[in-house]
Amino acid sequence: MARSVLVTGGNRGIGLAIAQAFAAQGDRVAVTHRGSDVPEGLLGVKCDVTDAAQVEAAFAEIKEQHGPVEVLVANAGITDDTLLLRMSEDQFARVLDANLTGSYRVAKHAASAMLRKRWGRMVFISSVVGLTGSAGQVNYAASKAGLVGMARSIARELGSRNITANVVAPGFVATDMTDQLPEKRREEILGQVPLGRYATSEEVAAAVTWLASDSAAYVTGAVIPVDGGLGMGH
Ligand code: NDP
Repeated sequence: MARSVLVTGGNRGIGLAIAQAFAAQGDRVAVTHRGSDVPEGLLGVKCDVTDAAQVEAAFAEIKEQHGPVEVLVANAGITDDTLLLRMSEDQFARVLDANLTGSYRVAKHAASAMLRKRWGRMVFISSVVGLTGSAGQVNYAASKAGLVGMARSIARELGSRNITANVVAPGFVATDMTDQLPEKRREEILGQVPLGRYATSEEVAAAVTWLASDSAAYVTGAVIPVDGGLGMGH
């Protein structure tokens, strides 16, 4: 059955692959953007997840166009890497606000619609570094670890209403975000990945659509790694 899906940051990168995977199944898919174009077939809603008023307006627009959100994918995220001693409080807070508080903002709106329907699926896009840690990413890793606690708390709060909340933790995926890494760092990373390559965005999307499918109805509070084995054991 076609569902109303929202993917934050679904205008490009991994989020776009996730949005397109849901659209290919016949779902009605909305994506947030901050002023960019959105590919045909997706409903673009202008929304910066750090702005509570924009998040509220986005949910209202989606409700009107597609019906209340039934599947939420909190994917929007940023990095701002530097070592702890050089990291300003603003750098720390900005990354937390986009990645973690932004996910809280959209989850809260989605939850109220899902509660009414007594059905819902939330998927939070974390990262392998949320569990392993990563030098130079104190802010990013903290935000991604926070998503696990958030998803598991939502899983406990809303499970009795048939709402699941899960986390997908990708390893390194070929996108604009990883293009910024210096060549030497990329080689170091690939040396630690048992499968010896980056993931494609489509491989991350496959885990997300599965978590939102009926086949995953009994899966909640889980952290699903899509990392080529990079984070094994964590
Ligand atoms: P990109 O940098 O390619 O895209 C980031 C997306 O997030 C863009 O759509 C961007 O929108 C959106 N975004 C950022 N900040 C905000 C905001 N404040 N409000 C709304 N949208 C925002 O990243 P990826 O596709 O690589 O990453 C997607 C997710 O996957 C992120 O959460 C990232 O942390 C996670 N991830 C990525 C990995 C990788 O290797 N690439 C590995 C593990 C996790 P805009 O176009 O407006 O900038």
